[in-house]
Amino acid sequence: MGERGDQHGAATFPWSFIPAPGPGERRADYFTWPDVALAGLRFPYFALRGREPGPTVLVISGIHGGEYPGPLGAIALGRELDPATLRGAVLILPLVNLPAFWARAAFVTPGDGRNLNRAFPGKPAGTISEVLAHRLLTEAVESADAVIDLHSGDIFEALADHTGHFQTADATVTARNEAMVAAFGLPYAGTYPAPTASLSLVGNTALRGKAAIIVEVGGNGLVSPTQVATVQEGVREALRALGLLPRHPARRADHADRRCRTGRRPRDRALASGGRDRTRGRGGRSPRHAHRSARRAAGRCGRAVRGDGPLSPDIARGA
Ligand SMILES: [Zn+2]
Repeated sequence: MGERGDQHGAATFPWSFIPAPGPGERRADYFTWPDVALAGLRFPYFALRGREPGPTVLVISGIHGGEYPGPLGAIALGRELDPATLRGAVLILPLVNLPAFWARAAFVTPGDGRNLNRAFPGKPAGTISEVLAHRLLTEAVESADAVIDLHSGDIFEALADHTGHFQTADATVTARNEAMVAAFGLPYAGTYPAPTASLSLVGNTALRGKAAIIVEVGGNGLVSPTQVATVQEGVREALRALGLLPRHPARRADHADRRCRTGRRPRDRALASGGRDRTRGRGGRSPRHAHRSARRAAGRCGRAVRGDGPLSPDIARGA
């Protein structure tokens, strides 16, 4: 992951298909690509450029049409992030498969009937899914140091919340992947064998030697405020883990680990024993903060899932 900056020390904005924001600024607008297959599509984006050099992270959601926690969480984060405190740059593409979203089409893109997340690396000239995959990979992914791809179970699909990433021999990439997975703290985390070829966005990002995780939150064409917050906070904490946001003030290191030993959240235990809720009060911990800590603890204690289990790697890595 580079420390991308210009000769004056400011963070650069590497995505040339988006007008670059100034240092410390946010730009929220729409862009188009000139391909015939993508004619008439205005893609929303949030572009954030920090004042200080740092990593560049791409956040993508809406590859599938009926998965709503990802786009809503990504939009909420695009509005929330303060570019003045950012190191590096973030590009958020909250709805990349607009025809599927508008049609509420599960799994496939109207127009060619292809699953966009089985169309990578795509083609410069082809069907809508092939051209879109090619543009996303060669322009959006290519300029990023790390990628977060947000999904859910689609309209007819229930999934346990989980993250997934590929094994790699590159220790630095592994460390970044594991840092992002830990930051999300979802109940399950899948690690899949290093790909030799792939049809998915995250698989093709891994083949390019970059850090990348897929995130699955919610499903069945539904969305709740809790799921949106899970995505929003998860991506934010992943950016923090990668060094784009300031670190939290020192935490009590044993706060999360205690739950692993007792099987209960510290807050639950305090309330059950009639004691004061120790996650609030003078320490300044809000209930929201406590919830996040508990989720992170769940992630540390959660069962790891491997792609060679009953779930086929092809399904597991690209849902
Ligand atoms: Zn999906």
